[in-house]
Amino acid sequence: MDIDQAKIPQATAKRLPLYYRFLENLHASGKHRVSSSELSEAVKVDSATIRRDFSYFGALGKKGYGYNVNYLLSFFRKTLDQDEVTKVTLVGVGNLGTALMNYNFSKNNSTRIEMAFDVAEDKVGKKIGSVPIYHLDEFKERVANEVEVAILTVPANAAQQIADQLVAGGIKGILNFTPARLTVPDDVRVHHIDLSVELQSLIYFLRHYPI
Ligand code: ATP
Repeated sequence: MDIDQAKIPQATAKRLPLYYRFLENLHASGKHRVSSSELSEAVKVDSATIRRDFSYFGALGKKGYGYNVNYLLSFFRKTLDQDEVTKVTLVGVGNLGTALMNYNFSKNNSTRIEMAFDVAEDKVGKKIGSVPIYHLDEFKERVANEVEVAILTVPANAAQQIADQLVAGGIKGILNFTPARLTVPDDVRVHHIDLSVELQSLIYFLRHYPI
């Protein structure tokens, strides 16, 4: 089935990896069918939203019968380009950067941190797992327009300047773990993950909006 990616709303597109991960787990446990209410319970998205999301992909399921797990899985794999490995780089091999490099998305073999950059003498030239750490000065020549995505785990006060350097090196997507708000050209996408804000907001909700 050919799907016009441009027609999938951004909010739906953002949920695709969530669906995909859950379907992979279902598949691994040998399940062949899943209903939208089961899916809803597992991924915590209401079932009307799931049905609407899935409607953008054409007829993937029959009412009352559930969705075919294998079919959905291969559909999502194609849509999310899971058959192609996306090379990712990481800049800032501190505590958080090191943790992410060790994790290295091993459950998801379509994204991999291929190389990392830092400026600290005691880090440059070393490896974490099999991932080499280079000096940031070598960024442009090392990525050579082959890497489009960068994870940013540097100190906040260096983030903007480094983001500029990443963009100059051809990076089109930045996963920003620093608290800094980055300014980038229109054709570059930044997703921001501020762990302390997330934690504070969870605590605030727990206190003020008890379930
Ligand atoms: P560490 O405990 O290793 O010092 P940390 O987790 O406390 O790190 P930060 O001080 O935020 O974290 O630094 C994160 C990483 O970013 C460090 O490895 C540091 O060397 C690196 N870093 C700092 N400034 C720059 C820069 N201008 N360019 C690239 N990397 C940088």
